[in-house]
Amino acid sequence: MGTRRILAGGIAQESHSFNPVPMGRSWFNVCAGVEAVAAARGSNSVLGGIVDAAEAKGVEVIVPTVFRAQSGGPVEEAVFEEMRNLMCDAARRGDFDAIVLPLHGGMLTPSLEDPEGALMAALRGIVGDDVPLTVGFDLHAHVTPEILARCDLLAGYLTNPHGDQGRTGQRAFLAALNMLEGRLRPALAAVHLPMLTFGNDRTDEEPLLSLHARARAAVEAGEAYDVSIFNAQQFLDVRGLGQWVLAYGNGAAPDGLALELAGTLWDRRRELIGTYPPLDEYLDKAARGTDRPLILGDQGDRVAGGSPGDGTYVLRALLARDDLPASAVPIADADAVRACRAAGVGAVVTVTVGGRYSTVAPPVTVTGEVVSAGASAQVVYDGPADAGYRTTLGAYAVLHVGRVNLVLTDQPYSYLDPGYYRAMGIDPARMGLVITRSGYHFTLNYAAVGQCVTVDTPGMTSYRVGELPFVKARPFFPLDEIEVTPRLHARGGALP
Ligand SMILES: [Zn+2]
Repeated sequence: MGTRRILAGGIAQESHSFNPVPMGRSWFNVCAGVEAVAAARGSNSVLGGIVDAAEAKGVEVIVPTVFRAQSGGPVEEAVFEEMRNLMCDAARRGDFDAIVLPLHGGMLTPSLEDPEGALMAALRGIVGDDVPLTVGFDLHAHVTPEILARCDLLAGYLTNPHGDQGRTGQRAFLAALNMLEGRLRPALAAVHLPMLTFGNDRTDEEPLLSLHARARAAVEAGEAYDVSIFNAQQFLDVRGLGQWVLAYGNGAAPDGLALELAGTLWDRRRELIGTYPPLDEYLDKAARGTDRPLILGDQGDRVAGGSPGDGTYVLRALLARDDLPASAVPIADADAVRACRAAGVGAVVTVTVGGRYSTVAPPVTVTGEVVSAGASAQVVYDGPADAGYRTTLGAYAVLHVGRVNLVLTDQPYSYLDPGYYRAMGIDPARMGLVITRSGYHFTLNYAAVGQCVTVDTPGMTSYRVGELPFVKARPFFPLDEIEVTPRLHARGGALP
């Protein structure tokens, strides 16, 4: 037998239905071929896990294309079409044994509620049902009946904050390999629950900690081959939004396990709703002085949750006080970046920033000195989450406004990793206060830098979801008090 080959590629982005800024191609990091394989090798990403696991087994990985962007508004149709055409062209060449897709799940385009399902359907249409097709998804993916019908095994991250991206890719790859070698015949038991989690949904804390421990024990004991528990991205106004428990058996579906896990999730649903401390509490703390920098997640304007990243709520609070240490706060504002870059480093400029799309606080006019500016800065993630991942920033400028380092960028970023700040000349370890546009994931990658806290701020990604105009996703708990008896989803069937 010659060398086995797998096809791996696709698109990874998480969309927010209420973010009005469409995501175009320039927002994506696009890579292909040996360059994509080399970039992924050894990195803690889904593709990295696929590549490392495949190469350890002597399997060659073909990457027709991989599009990756941060969360944001729906992705422009042409971007999705370009990716799908590249993947389908490669699928038609047929020079591979299985397909393993590193995706995110939970993306939107203006016309598609489930583009990942559409990609899988297109690939199945070309290769048929006999070629193993497995997928790695983020834990916050929106899973659909279409996806479950088209893939042989869907593996989701098992950690939030996410630290097992590589391991997820490895699970997806090994399932495909085991199928190819006749050791695995995946049989799915799946349960959907019309509910969302809001805030108390870390997997290293209760109630999810013991739920995942039970799932892991079941896999280790051979009760199931693989289990994923999906906590859907909360800002998707799509039909069938909710939680999914997927338990795959080898030959026989572990129905009882899936029902048990889903039953626990439903019974403990009220515990999954959390609260965050107010911003002022932590600004007061910073004013009193801390041993280590305070790293604050701006809950209401989390780019990691799909927000536009131009919210001024925190910036206003920082500028309103004169007792705070040096701070770094980001705002996405292409016009302000242009003005600062035109004035040049060393110039004193007056610009009006932010508040265009994140409208809970109005734009702010500031005067400050441009201390750095540029474009195409390289970010390398320290990790542990996504350690080694490389991405390139667009244009940026840093403005000193008193003790505030106002970090202006032409696109929004989540600041999940301190590498973002360092790329623009700011060392987060030397700040007293650092703002990120993330609610969970930054806590892993800034743990070595300072104390990480997510604060309650208003905005498009705050968990005050009753303020958002959901239509298609309803009814769901906790916006709607509904009666649910968890039951098995018939593979290929519609939602109950
Ligand atoms: Zn996620």
